[in-house]
Parts: sequence; C-alpha cells; structure tokens
Amino acid sequence: MTALIKWDFENHQYYPILLPENYSTTHNFGSVIKCINCGDSFNYDNSFTSLQYHTPDMGLGYPVCQKCHAIELKQKLLYPYPDEDY
Ligand SMILES: [Zn+2]
Repeated sequence: MTALIKWDFENHQYYPILLPENYSTTHNFGSVIKCINCGDSFNYDNSFTSLQYHTPDMGLGYPVCQKCHAIELKQKLLYPYPDEDY
C-alpha cells in the first residue's frame, strides 16, 4: 500500500501514513472520487487541494471534500507558524 504524508498542524511536522484500503483517485473533471480524509464520495469538480495530505515525493495535495477543507483551514489558522502573517 502506498504511503503518503500527513501534516500535523499543531506540531508543524509530517507523519507518514498509508492510503486507506481501496482508495483511488483521478484528476478527471466530472469523476466521482473519495475524500482522502473522511472517505465521502463527491464530484472531483467540487474538490479542494488538501493542506494536510500530500504525496511524499513532490508534496502534491490529495483532493478533499469541502467539509474537510474547512476543518483543515481552521486547524491551519489555529496553529500558525510564529512568523506566518495572515
Ligand atoms: Zn472529507
């Protein structure tokens, strides 16, 4: 099973994790995909690039649903880097 990395907003570091079983995704508009975080199915056209789940090689974000994206944004704002300017 392929590994990916998950950003820990509070500790500001990545952790390796495994892809969920039977997870697959596509980058084709109009396709139904699963959210990497919650597993809900939704249309790729409505996906957001995850701020937390990334490929280990290039750091590309996996697609997440709107609900999980909102949670990620809240976490990011809750635990900013000391020098981050919003
Ligand atoms: Zn989700």
